[in-house]
Parts: sequence; C-alpha cells; structure tokens
Amino acid sequence: MIDMRHREDTPSRIVIVGGGEAAVEAIDTLRRNAYEGAITLISAEPTLPYERPPLSKAFLLDDPPVERLLRPAAHYDVQGVEVRLSCRVTLLKPECRRVVLEDGSSVLYSHLLLATGGRPRQLGAARPRMEGVHVLRTLADAQVLRARLRRAARVVIVGGGYIGLEVAAVCRQLGIEVVVLQGADRVLRRVTSPIVSSFYHAEHERKGARIRCNTTIDEIIDDGAGRVCAVRCSDGARLDVDLVLIAIGLEPADELARQAGLACLGGILVDEQGRTRDPVVFAAGDCANQFRARYGCSLRLESVDNARSQARSAALSMVGSQKQEDCVPSFWSDQYDLNLVSVGLCHSYDRYLIRGSLDARRFSICYLSRGEFVGIDSVNAPRDQLAARKLIASRARPDPGKLQDASIPLKDCV
Ligand SMILES: Cc1cc2nc3c(=O)[nH]c(=O)nc-3n(C[C@H](O)[C@H](O)[C@H](O)COP(=O)(O)OP(=O)(O)OC[C@H]3O[C@@H](n4cnc5c(N)ncnc54)[C@H](O)[C@@H]3O)c2cc1C
Repeated sequence: MIDMRHREDTPSRIVIVGGGEAAVEAIDTLRRNAYEGAITLISAEPTLPYERPPLSKAFLLDDPPVERLLRPAAHYDVQGVEVRLSCRVTLLKPECRRVVLEDGSSVLYSHLLLATGGRPRQLGAARPRMEGVHVLRTLADAQVLRARLRRAARVVIVGGGYIGLEVAAVCRQLGIEVVVLQGADRVLRRVTSPIVSSFYHAEHERKGARIRCNTTIDEIIDDGAGRVCAVRCSDGARLDVDLVLIAIGLEPADELARQAGLACLGGILVDEQGRTRDPVVFAAGDCANQFRARYGCSLRLESVDNARSQARSAALSMVGSQKQEDCVPSFWSDQYDLNLVSVGLCHSYDRYLIRGSLDARRFSICYLSRGEFVGIDSVNAPRDQLAARKLIASRARPDPGKLQDASIPLKDCV
C-alpha cells in the first residue's frame, strides 16, 4: 500500500528520473514558476538530455556535432540542477519517498517525476545479436547506425511507421537500396488516414524505396561469421542485405512504477495533471498513459510536443499552480523535402476535406467528426499548421466549403 499522506518533514527536492524532453521541460517550468527547492535529474544515459527527432533525419544524413542536439552543462548549473548521468534508478520506494540507484545509494524526494521514455519494441523472438541488426532510440544507436549506413548498399527496414520511413528517406538520399517491410496493410497505419498513407507510400516509391505491406520478417540470416546477410520475409521472399533496422514501435519504460504498485496499463496511468495515484509521484512523456477529458479516455502518445506539455502540467501541479495546459496533441515528421505536421487526432473522423493539392505536394487533410474539426495532417503548409491548433483546441465547426478552398486562410473558415 502506498502511504498517501503528505509528509511535511520531507525537504523540498524534486527528483526527475530520465533525461529526455520531458525532463528538460519540467526543469524549465519549475524554475520559471519560482520553484526554488532542489532538483535532481537522474539519467541512465551518459549524455546530457538531447533531442531525439534529428536522430532519424539530419543526424544520419549529415555529420552535425552532437553539441547541436543538447544544451550545455552550464545551462543546468545556472538552473541549479544536480545532474547525475550514467546512473540508473533500479527501485522506487514510495512509502519512504526514495529512489534507489544501481550502486545501492538512494535519493529522497518530496515530489518525483518519472520521465523514463521507452525502449524499442523487439521482434517476436528476441532481436538476434547479430552485427548489422539495429534499433534506433538513443544517440549511441544513431552514431552506430550512421557509421554503418556509410558502408551499406542494401538496407531492410522492418516497420513502416514514422521512424522507419524517415530512415528509408535518409537511405535513398544516401543512394542506398531500401526495402520497408510493413506488417499492416498500409504505412503509417497507426497514426494517420489512408489518404496520407497512400501519399507517403507513393512518394517513397517515386524516390526509389520499395515498400512491401502485409509483410513481416520471418528470419534474419547471418553469414556464418555473425553478420547479417539476408532476411526471409513472411511471403517467402529472401532479400540480401547489409543492414536491418527494426523500427516496430516503443514499449513504455514503466517498470519502476509497476514494481512500486502504481497503476500501469500500456504506460504509467496519470490524470490530466500528470499525477499517478500517489499524489507526489508524476509521470510524463512516452512512458505515461494520460487521461484526456477531451477524448474521454487515456492516451499514450509519443511526441516531443506531448512530452513537453505533460511535463509542464506535472511541474505546474508540483508547484501548486492552477495554470492549465492546452492538450491538443501534435507531431511532426520530415521525409525528403516533405514536412508533415499532425495536430489533433484523426481516429474518430467521419469526413475529411482536402485543402491544396497532393500533386503539388502542398496540402492539408482536415478531419471532421460530426462537423467538429478534430485533426489535421498538413504537408508543406505551414500557415494551416499554425491556425489548425487554435481551431481544434476551440472545437471549431468550420464551413466545409471554405475549408476546401486553400485560398481562404484556415482561421477564416469558421
Ligand atoms: C529517432 C527518433 C525520432 C523521433 N522523431 C520525432 C519527430 O520528428 N517528432 C516528434 O514529435 N517526436 C519524435 N520522436 C519522439 C520523441 O523524441 C519522444 O516522444 C520524446 O523524446 C519523448 O521524451 P521523453 O522525455 O518522454 O523520453 P526520452 O526522450 O526517451 O527520455 C527518457 C530517458 O529516461 C532514461 N531512463 C529510462 N529509465 C531510467 C531509469 N530507470 N533510470 C534513469 N534513467 C532512465 C532513458 O535512458 C532516457 O534517457 C522521435 C523519437 C526517436 C527515437
């Protein structure tokens, strides 16, 4: 049982487990909102918190210095944050408000933020420990992958989600042959509508990537010396390869919460303020499954915007602020010269309208549910992207005729 009583004797120390987007945003929010107590950030990674999105895009393509992805150590000094890197929390003891580290030492907290992200989902059988088989989550993963891509001629990517397709785009730009195996009947199945999936499928094929839907991987074959040399697909085809990337999604890192008896279901369950059922323990980012009154259910989202907004909510609650976070989800993806921004959720739409032109590669798909604007997928259309957020947040009911006319600014379609 977790002791829910407030302990006035605990000195003010906010401990953040995890060093990603959510952690950084929580720190900024705490300090911006006059929290003057101690903050300890504990991260299993050896690097200061860095941005992950470039890891499947510019970082693989070019050779940018790592410093571009992160804030310098001085930033955390100025904010008075104690940063512990290469340091894993192995146990959470909510009854005594303590996290235990792998060296056996422990840190007391008055409030705790679990911002532990997730780890790449493995193939059914454990990922073969074979040279040339990769996943992509961390900077270290990206550094190895980048070096290997420079020597690869044929790549198979398992998974036609955002990360799989972004890396496929990088491969084509590097002149590498690439095949994407997508278990579902279309790419981006989990995140967007059939029309956007078809658009991206066609764009990739136009650039020379091959996409095989309804196809998974049955076997990864090694060359006898521990290096991948081919894969066998579920349709029986054998593809010779130099490199395989497994990009089939993420499993939330919720083990600390589960082991501490906090409710988890596909992520750590939290309320709209990011609070678990222990009032001083919060969770934010990819590891959190947050209740959204707007949608009447809990959602676990994987995006920078989500990690930041949940971290802001949690930090504001910790300092007792009544400020509310705008909770419209958003996500972006860059593939070739296509910048996609998705705002809202399109799962429940019953009608969609197209603004602009798919052929011109500049368009927005606006999703409506019983007349309400619930989501948008916008490609190379920055003006729509900005306006959509406000309209979706305010549950606007746009005029469908105006919506289809890209010469009318989105904000004037209501
Ligand atoms: C390659 C790639 C490309 C992406 N591209 C985009 C994009 O274009 N747009 C977009 O919106 N989103 C993108 N995302 C998703 C986005 O980066 C994530 O949603 C976001 O980083 C989540 O932040 P987080 O703080 O929840 O978790 P993370 O950034 O994963 O940070 C979690 C941290 O916690 C640490 N940790 C875990 N357990 C422990 C423990 N027990 N003790 C100590 N430390 C621990 C981990 O080591 C890690 O450093 C991308 C992700 C990847 C991997």
